[in-house]
Amino acid sequence: MISLNSLCSPWSAIALAAATMAKKNKTYSTANLFESDSADTAAGRIIRVAFDTGVDNEFDYLVPDKLWPIQPGHRIEAPFGRNNKLQTGFCVSIEENVQRPQSPKRKRGVISEPQSARRTFRLKTIKRIIDKAPLLDAQLLALADWISKYYVCPFGQVLAAMVPGGVKKGAGVKKVKYIYLTSQEDVKLSKKQQAIIDVLKARRAVTAKAGIPKARLLEMAGVSTDGPLKKLAQKGIIKLAERVVFTGLPAIPEKFAKAPGKVVLNAEQTHALTKINQAIAAHAFGVTLLHGVTNSGKTELYIRAIQTVLKQGRRAIVMLPEIALTTQTVQRFSSRFDRIAVMHCRLTAGQRNAQWQKIKAGNADVVIGARSSIFAPLADIGLIVVDEEHEPSYKQDTIPRYHGRDVAIKRAQLAGAHCILGSATPSLETLTNCKAKKHYQLVTLAKRVMDLPMPDMKLIDMSAQYGAHGVNLISTQLEAALKEVLARDEQAILLLNRRGYSNFIFCPNCKHTLRCQNCDVTLTFHKRRKLDTTPTVTGPHMHSGYAMCHYCLAQTLVPQRCPLCKRPMTMIGLGSQKLTEELSKKLPAARVCRVDSDSMASADAGGYWRVLRDFASGRIDILAGTQMLAKGLHFPNVTLVGIISADTSLSLPDFRSNERTFQLISQVAGRAGRSAKHGIVLVQTLLPDQPAIQFALKHDYNGFVSAELGHRQKCNLPPYGRMAIVHMRDTKFDKLEAACDAMRWRLDAIIEAEGLDIKLRGPMPATISRIQRYHRMQIILQAPDPAPLQSLFTTLRSAPPIRPAVKVAIDVDPVNLL
Ligand code: ADP
Ligand code: ZN
Repeated sequence: MISLNSLCSPWSAIALAAATMAKKNKTYSTANLFESDSADTAAGRIIRVAFDTGVDNEFDYLVPDKLWPIQPGHRIEAPFGRNNKLQTGFCVSIEENVQRPQSPKRKRGVISEPQSARRTFRLKTIKRIIDKAPLLDAQLLALADWISKYYVCPFGQVLAAMVPGGVKKGAGVKKVKYIYLTSQEDVKLSKKQQAIIDVLKARRAVTAKAGIPKARLLEMAGVSTDGPLKKLAQKGIIKLAERVVFTGLPAIPEKFAKAPGKVVLNAEQTHALTKINQAIAAHAFGVTLLHGVTNSGKTELYIRAIQTVLKQGRRAIVMLPEIALTTQTVQRFSSRFDRIAVMHCRLTAGQRNAQWQKIKAGNADVVIGARSSIFAPLADIGLIVVDEEHEPSYKQDTIPRYHGRDVAIKRAQLAGAHCILGSATPSLETLTNCKAKKHYQLVTLAKRVMDLPMPDMKLIDMSAQYGAHGVNLISTQLEAALKEVLARDEQAILLLNRRGYSNFIFCPNCKHTLRCQNCDVTLTFHKRRKLDTTPTVTGPHMHSGYAMCHYCLAQTLVPQRCPLCKRPMTMIGLGSQKLTEELSKKLPAARVCRVDSDSMASADAGGYWRVLRDFASGRIDILAGTQMLAKGLHFPNVTLVGIISADTSLSLPDFRSNERTFQLISQVAGRAGRSAKHGIVLVQTLLPDQPAIQFALKHDYNGFVSAELGHRQKCNLPPYGRMAIVHMRDTKFDKLEAACDAMRWRLDAIIEAEGLDIKLRGPMPATISRIQRYHRMQIILQAPDPAPLQSLFTTLRSAPPIRPAVKVAIDVDPVNLL
């Protein structure tokens, strides 16, 4: 986490006034100016540069004539700061051809030292231009500008994040000398020279494009020295050209599932495609929400829509959650399109560079990738698809904290392209936009392909299984169902949702959980004493520590016994290791394989592929793992899906926990019954009456949505209104608390001065109140729409920093409140 420099120093009325001024006036600092005795200045061109140093500002620099021309999007190196350290930055605009530091055009301001009227300051000069061609085009620069403003992140850091590290480093690149013929004339040649020419002629290496790598040419001609080549070049018969060759391995993994035959769209799909094609034909920005149940043929529609766009001579980006990219999906696209590029984080730096360069050179029509693929240097975009648009993993949790889906919509707008958001369980935000905004349309696929039925859903109340030694992870019903599946030679997937934390306080007997009286969230258990002045009373019947609501700050003591039934309360926590242990005890003959995101994220992604291949070929009976199994996998022989604990995400103190639970159960259920064999889903839960679980069991998305929207509206939570969080952290708690108070005062002052409609909560400790020795606090901001928040942050980032200085991070539209 990198703090915004400008957010750290003492607040005063003067500072705030200065901040408001800085919004309008361009100022300069020692970063890009040096002091000069003479007032006369050399003529030169001026560019504006954004650095990746964390400084929330851009700076003007002189460009010497010998480096001209330069374009926005070029990377440059320039001296920066008092000690003139060379820093890398992006040229973001060309300023007028003048020398004096003036032009009050800048959007974000920095407070400069007061400049004495007697002294003159001159701009510094850039040192070099790093890349031959600009890395970013005007559209991506505009997108970066929007992200910088909307997500409150220094422009330079957004730009740096847009280009993969492998591209900046030139990873996996080798320079190879190619040789080609320039003249066909017959001249007298030595034997060796003739041998070389013969090879070139036989290979028709007459153009630069068709040249032969030098080493290969010499080998074929049986020549061991460079001498003859040099002579030929002197005579003007051949030419040498250096070409860049990418050494990265192919980025698209080998096929392990057979390509599906020709698909004939059903009536529902045909109708949906017509509506999408009409929107694409308009050649204008618009959004389609494709709401289709699992296995309804959404991916097939994406492919058809892309085909429409390619026929128009335009191109497409397909965004998938990172974990879906490791499934068959990439192959489905690559078997349908020739010129495809993939971008995701399991590629090596060299592979990424090769893919990026392929896109940049115009050699890819379809880019498929994770969140960051939205920054692909693709021209002529006609369509952007965001699959599983509801996925929280589209939100980046480091700087810049952007939401991939929302950036995709913005890019589509800048490109005049259509955007398809696909999901079986659309987020409430997207659904609300779809109803409210006129450039949105809703297209529904209510049925599975080939009239396959939805899987049968069965609920298993786990509190009945609560044994003397704690919770069993596998109920007797699930055990019996697994045995049946094995007997029929079919397969099962078990999902263990590990996102729960043990600080979820629960009564196994009457299912009572400690919840806030004002807000619809569970309380979080804190071991430490409360931080404020009110002394915490503990007694013989209380756990030491306290439970707290992270929305309204209400605190209560934690009873050792359930307030309703007087039985002991427990803290719930589950482990995937326990699951495998239990499986081997209960089903000793089953071939079980455990996968989790940790094992997948490791360098051994090949291991994960092998597991999927073995599962596809039937060498594994039961695949057990975390959320990653919920996405994109298509195994026709899977007839049973078991959700080990459907309620662990409900225990999270997050207002979206119901939505996540509903989405998760629906997604996982989608893995069952993907062929003529009927599928069943066993949902184990300690909270069988919980509405999110009940609606998911009935496949009732609309029922869930109307109940949930009711709650959200009552509490003014998104999609009603917007939210942002100011996260602050430091290793010293007292210092952090003081900085948080200073921040709260400043926010209050800006809100009052500008008359903004924003509600503030906090500072309060984050749910995970300490990570890696850093204490964490947060201030939650809520507003009816984005405008007041944007105005607040614009002023805040141009104000002097908060003191004492701590790490500050702003999260706009957070998807994770922990
Ligand atoms: P979703 O993305 O909604 O889960 P997919 O597009 O992956 O659905 O389709 C599920 C499976 O059904 C895929 O194997 C796909 O090839 C196949 N499929 C799609 N449309 C049809 C259709 N009209 N008829 C038969 N099979 C289809
Ligand atoms: Zn509350």
